[in-house]
Amino acid sequence: MILLLNETLDKEIRDHGARDYPHECCGAMLGEQTDSGREVRALFPLTNRRDDSPRNRFSITPEDFRAAERAAAERGLDLIGWYHSHPDHPARPSEFDREHAWPFYSYVIVSVAAGMPRDLTSWRLEDDRSKFQPEPVAATKRAGGSAQG
Ligand SMILES: [Zn+2]
Repeated sequence: MILLLNETLDKEIRDHGARDYPHECCGAMLGEQTDSGREVRALFPLTNRRDDSPRNRFSITPEDFRAAERAAAERGLDLIGWYHSHPDHPARPSEFDREHAWPFYSYVIVSVAAGMPRDLTSWRLEDDRSKFQPEPVAATKRAGGSAQG
């Protein structure tokens, strides 16, 4: 399994992470299953609603979830995953991330160091939810746009 992410959307995720620094950004990834893998076709940026600790906590509310599913359906796409940033932390899932993740989805994490986006990785939670496995990310050239555009 690989995650296909075109250059435009890759940059949008990084830009969102830089814009919300030093807070975490988060959003949904809309796309579809293709012959070569799971492909992200649009992003649906979300507001990080955790005001207790917005620097290091990322959570998706039921309202976010429904809004993301609706946005996907409107575009004829599926909700295939979620992205968020790790300000001044490596692009690896935290224990908190694992506890709040679901199997099936792709979880993209972008590290943002001192305001500059760095590594971008993707992960899948194992079915028994015991741990994440890395999911390779392949860059594609195909044009894509934001859900907001
Ligand atoms: Zn995280």
